Amino acid sequence: MSDVLLSVEHLAATYDQAICAVSDVSVAVKRGEIVALLGANGAGKSTTLQAVSALLPARRGQITAGRIAFDGRDVTSVAAAELVRGGLVPVLEGRHCFASLTVEENLITGAIGRDARRGDIRDGLDRVYALFPQLARHCRSVAGLTSGGEQQMTAIGRALMSRPRLLVLDEPSMGLAPLVVEAIFRALKTLNAEQGLSLLVAEQNSTVALRFADRAIVLEGGRSVLSGPARELRRRADIKHLYLGGAAAPAHSTQAVA
Ligand code: ATP
Repeated sequence: MSDVLLSVEHLAATYDQAICAVSDVSVAVKRGEIVALLGANGAGKSTTLQAVSALLPARRGQITAGRIAFDGRDVTSVAAAELVRGGLVPVLEGRHCFASLTVEENLITGAIGRDARRGDIRDGLDRVYALFPQLARHCRSVAGLTSGGEQQMTAIGRALMSRPRLLVLDEPSMGLAPLVVEAIFRALKTLNAEQGLSLLVAEQNSTVALRFADRAIVLEGGRSVLSGPARELRRRADIKHLYLGGAAAPAHSTQAVA
């Protein structure tokens, strides 16, 4: 059994068969690893995650080149629902919840796809509430009326209810207060440490992401341009300036750090 759980090789993708969104992205996530996908606005993070989760067609996007393998199996053209059943579960940008359902009803929807039994569902709910005690207190609240942080926790909790092996998160920190971001990343780190859950997290907030990740890959202009251990990237003061919203990066070949 290979230690690589997800491998994306030289991915290229377009929207409407015309707009090139990513042209050469390579990403690998090993079992039990937290990998951060960093990059400025428009670098291609969301497109990469949507491609990995088979959600591009819903946004009129197409994979035009490259290969995506999950657990050794080519999943480049597998349907999203099948991927979820196989353990690759996305948490989309914008903390998608069913606004008119309660927090608990939202969580339960995450278990439906895997035909969970009643006891299984109760067990899953207990685990989510242990991870996010705030959700236990608001379990009967209508999700659309809870805070942004609680909605993000609900979206993550719902994903956990489908028993993922790899959680793919798009900008979990977006629009949330620093303390809430901290709580969410701590919870993710706990899942990783205690259950070996693998995580691929796209973030513009590189400071937080590099603190919690094992490794990071930087995208720029639709290409992966830099990768390495998070602790090495944290030490490089030029990264933010070069790739995350500052001046353009000097080279376009993927550069490895350490
Ligand atoms: P952000 O953090 O702003 O979401 P990102 O790194 O996730 O940025 P993407 O959303 O993947 O970047 O965007 C990559 C490129 O694809 C950008 O040039 C963007 O304008 C374009 N793009 C993204 N979504 C669509 C779409 N639905 N239709 C057309 N072009 C799109």
